This record gives sequence, C-alpha cells and structure tokens, in this order.
Amino acid sequence: MLVGRNGYSDSLTLEGRLAGGRCVTVTVSDGVISRIEPGGSSRALLAPAFVDPHVHLRTPGREDEETIASGTAAAAAGGYCAILAMPNTDPVVDSAAVLGSLRETARREAVVPVGFMASISKGLAGEELTELGELGDAGAAAFTDDGRPVVSAALLRRALQYAEVAGRPLALHCEEPTLSHAGHMHEGTVSAELGLGGWPSLAESVMVERDLALAAHEGQPLHLMHLSKCESVAALERARAAGVAATAEATPHHLVLTDEAVRSLDPNTKMNPPLGSASDRDALVGALRDGTICCVATDHAPHSREEKDVPFEAAPFGVTGLETAFAALHTHLVEPGLISLETLLERMSAGPARAFGLPEPTLEVGARANLVLLDLEAEWTVTEDGFRSRSANSWLLGQQLRGRVVKTVADGRLVHG
Ligand SMILES: [Zn+2]
Ligand SMILES: [Zn+2]
Repeated sequence: MLVGRNGYSDSLTLEGRLAGGRCVTVTVSDGVISRIEPGGSSRALLAPAFVDPHVHLRTPGREDEETIASGTAAAAAGGYCAILAMPNTDPVVDSAAVLGSLRETARREAVVPVGFMASISKGLAGEELTELGELGDAGAAAFTDDGRPVVSAALLRRALQYAEVAGRPLALHCEEPTLSHAGHMHEGTVSAELGLGGWPSLAESVMVERDLALAAHEGQPLHLMHLSKCESVAALERARAAGVAATAEATPHHLVLTDEAVRSLDPNTKMNPPLGSASDRDALVGALRDGTICCVATDHAPHSREEKDVPFEAAPFGVTGLETAFAALHTHLVEPGLISLETLLERMSAGPARAFGLPEPTLEVGARANLVLLDLEAEWTVTEDGFRSRSANSWLLGQQLRGRVVKTVADGRLVHG
C-alpha cells in the first residue's frame, strides 16, 4: 500500500533517550534496527516515528501548492515515516490509471513512504461508486471522498459492502451540507458577534450518527475523519460501546484552538470542520486521552498565498500541519498536563498505523527502522520561510513552540536531520 524510493538504505547510528529515561545507541543496518545498546549522552527522546493518515498532497492538479516531493519532505521534517494522501485532486484519484501514475511518481520522489487513498464516488460527485475492488488491487490505501461528505446513504451503504471485498477501510468526512452550506465558522456566540454565517455542530454530528448507524447495520468498520464536536465524540462512544468497529482522528488545530481564534479573522483559522467551542475541544482531548479517538491526523491542506490572502468569508478552508503537529501538541497538550507524552506518541504512531492496517513503527531489534529523535526542550518560532511544504498557510505562524523534531528515519533511511 505504501510506496517510497526503494533500492538503498543507510547504515546509521542514533543516540537518544527512551521514553523510560534510559540512554541508548541504536544501530540501523540495511534498513533494519540491528542493535540497541545502553549508553550515550543525548538528551533527545528516541521514539517510533509518526504516521499521518490524512494529508492533501494537491497533486495532480495544484503542484504550485504541493507535490509528492515537497509534501513528503514536510512529513520527514515533522517526524513522519508514513503518510496517506487524499484523492480530491484534479483529476480525482478514482481510477487505477490515476492511482498508478501517482504511485509511480512516489517511487521516484517520495522522501517518506506514502499511500494513496482512492475516492468512494466517481469524480467525488456522490452518484456512482468507483471500482473499489479494482482500486484495492491497484494499491489504494483506503477509500474516501474527503473534502466532501457521501451525501447519499444508499451509496455509502453499498460502499461499505464493497469495501469489505476490497479489504480496505472507508474514511469519512462527516458533513450534512444542507446544514453547513452557509457557514464560515462554528455557530455560536462568536459567530453571532462577528456576524459570520454559522455552521452548527449538528452539521457534523447528524452525519456521524448516520454513518455509524450504516456501519453498525452492515457490520463493517469505518474511520471518522477530523472529528471536531462533542456531540460527535458522544455518538462515537455510544457506537463503540455497542460494538461498531469505528476509529477516529482529531487534528492538532481542533485539539488546541477554539472558535475564539476566529476573532482575529485570520484566514488560517478557517477550517472544515470549523473550530468548535471550549467544550468541544475538551471532549476531543478527553477522547484522545482515553483512546476513543485513536489517531492524530494533520489534515495538512496547503493553499497558495493568493487563495488565502483574502477576506475571511472568501478564503478556502484548510491549514497546513505536517511540520508543526508534534511541537504544537507537545506545547499545548503535553506541557500543560492535558495528555501524557507517551499517549501523544502512541496516537501519532501506532494508533493511526493500526487504524489503516499499516505496519506499526516499533523500536525493537529486527524491526524496520522508523524512528524519530525529538528535542523536547528546543524552543522555536514558526515562520513562513521555515517550511519544506510549498505552502505556508499555518495557524501557528509567529508562535513559539517547545519541542522539535531533530531527526527522522523512515523505512530505514535518514530523511531528516
Ligand atoms: Zn475533510
Ligand atoms: Zn482533508
């Protein structure tokens, strides 16, 4: 499912501290962890590298915003050893031909291994299913119409049936468009005060409920993307308690910010789904802590400066995230004691890998080397010229963060640091 540049691997050694505090030296030979020996004096933390199940690489179609080369370089800088790319490109990844050409390019250009999702409906039009079985055989990592919901319940029901045949999960963007269509931000007191069109929490939660009901009925797993509202978390908890095999992700921006941030009218606070209230954010953090939400996903969504440099209401939804995810969550969740470092590392690595059936990065002799070295005390300021991504529409511009990715090893190769 994942493709990267094959053919060689570095022999390298890394010194670091394990989560338990012990200093070790790790030797990688032929891409595999061959030795873990006590010793060394590094203060940096050595951990399994991260997996991002939700990235927009913008290719084909908008290579001015991102490419496989630039997006995977950004991923390497963020500590990721694997990412999954969304199919809402131009053309849409809805055929084995488009999927095959992306996989071919990734074999030449990808700095870290990348998997490509294919769309659920042809052209993301929500009318006709793609050939899920054929796309699964051609290497689709999963199926999603992300960017849009699957509006037709009947179509989603059939997609759940076919996904079983294709052996790949469905990942769903939950949005009821007749409720969200006039919204620029979360519907609440802030939207009322700013006079901006509101997007009610229901626009997400009724679709979450419907999708979980369909999954329960079909006895099929599904993955909920970028959950953002407490009602959605409650629905997920109920469904999981009833035995539905549902997994879910939350983004760094939804885990850190609330709709109060929109008062700045900075277009980099405009996301889909929109930033929620403080109780929404608290519910997401609690669900990430207890594992109801098992993955952090960046929903890295690059936009050109021209597109984002417009009044709030005219701006597109989405922000970048690959290069700042760990530092943002370390600064805003771990340091204030809202979540433990161990939990954050798990939700950024093994959690997403398991949800999508990818190999779990592990720090063990004999495992493929997928490692990240983190300096937890390093302070740095997020600046526009510091990104490997071709886009700089980050909600963190100008902010100081604590915690920095020093080195990344992906599939046995040193790809950052
Ligand atoms: Zn989405
Ligand atoms: Zn997305």
